[in-house]
Amino acid sequence: MNTFRVADATTDTLATLQNEFKQLKAQGLSLDLTRGKPGSEQLSLSESMDGILAGNYIINGTDTRNYGGLDGIAAIKELFAPAFGLNTSDIIIGGNASLTMMYQSILFAYLYGFNGEQSAWKNLNAPKFICPVPGYDRHFSICEEFNIEMITVNCDENGPDMDAVEALIKADQDIIGMWNVPRFSNPTGIVYSDDVVERIAKLGKIASENFRVFWDNAYAVHNVENNAAELAAISHYTSKHSTEDSVIQFGSTSKITFAGAGVAFMTASEKNRAMYLKHLGKSSIGPDKINQLRHVKFFKDTAGLTSHMQKHAALLKPRFDAVLTDLNANFKGSDALTWTTPKGGYFVSVDTQDGLAQRVVELASECGVKLTPAGATFPYGKDPKNSNIRIAPSFPSVEDITTAMQIFSVCVKLASTEKALS
Ligand code: PLP
Repeated sequence: MNTFRVADATTDTLATLQNEFKQLKAQGLSLDLTRGKPGSEQLSLSESMDGILAGNYIINGTDTRNYGGLDGIAAIKELFAPAFGLNTSDIIIGGNASLTMMYQSILFAYLYGFNGEQSAWKNLNAPKFICPVPGYDRHFSICEEFNIEMITVNCDENGPDMDAVEALIKADQDIIGMWNVPRFSNPTGIVYSDDVVERIAKLGKIASENFRVFWDNAYAVHNVENNAAELAAISHYTSKHSTEDSVIQFGSTSKITFAGAGVAFMTASEKNRAMYLKHLGKSSIGPDKINQLRHVKFFKDTAGLTSHMQKHAALLKPRFDAVLTDLNANFKGSDALTWTTPKGGYFVSVDTQDGLAQRVVELASECGVKLTPAGATFPYGKDPKNSNIRIAPSFPSVEDITTAMQIFSVCVKLASTEKALS
């Protein structure tokens, strides 16, 4: 196949692509590459958790059926700590959603402050968060909910541009947070380098004492390839630089066991934990400890969790391959599209030529292929270049992904050619 090049576009190419598009549209397909949720085969991997307790609800003298244990049972902290590289004593176990714990942390910081009432974020004239882009839309929605201004910082393959982050923080003490998805980022799949992790851990030295890094390690153990880069433990660097209070880590088993019935957790310094639990305790007498115990029995130990993740990888790899094979076949060496080649996580991030993402999404939708709305990967839904599109291949079958990607590629070519000739 000849490489498609926008620079070579002719009216003949346009006519051919328009014809191809018409035929695809006539097929009346309905395919969805939008949300990154596990496929049903992935969910089935954890089915044996159902009934695993067989009536044995007691662990270390705790009856998991009863009230209490606001921060979770010890056994699951002991399971998670080595598996996710955390300190057991720093962990708080939540309900099924880490997003809830992030939201609550921001809510409590906003209303009550990490350092007493005076430090509440609501007292600031213009509270701001740094948002590495492209990023996760639900992080941005939380900021919007609290009227927290979002300042974007670009990323490369090592993580956010830390010169820019440090300069912003030095210049503005109203910057009170920063989002991060440090391993297999949503949507780029990048893994932060050790240097970036250390520089983020040191931000507490130059930022306001009310500043917190939100370290959302949602894809911590979600390798698709065996040789994926490891992520340095940020707690190692916060101890080294005495900035423990400045980082809160989050994670969950949403994409390990059940997206709707997993176990979420956060880790934080003693001071941050005390603040969080004080306010959490007003709204809950304790989390679902039965589900925590189910997870303990199901995995047993780190090796159990690792081998479980290999089963996920076996299901995800052909799906990622289907996306990447199509992109390589259609756009390798092309001026029309660039993309990431993640070794884990749930997404492939692509960039069209500037100004075309929305048109590509519209064209694909006309052919029955639903893509994440253009702009969703940026704060306020506004991608300044209108070029980024997030592809989520976990849920559809390999066959559906292959068909959807063929359509996607025609739409990119058509949109690029239309623009070049306009
Ligand atoms: N964080 C990131 C980066 C995600 O991509 C997702 C889900 O897609 C979540 C958090 C949601 O996590 P949870 O299900 O634990 O709320």
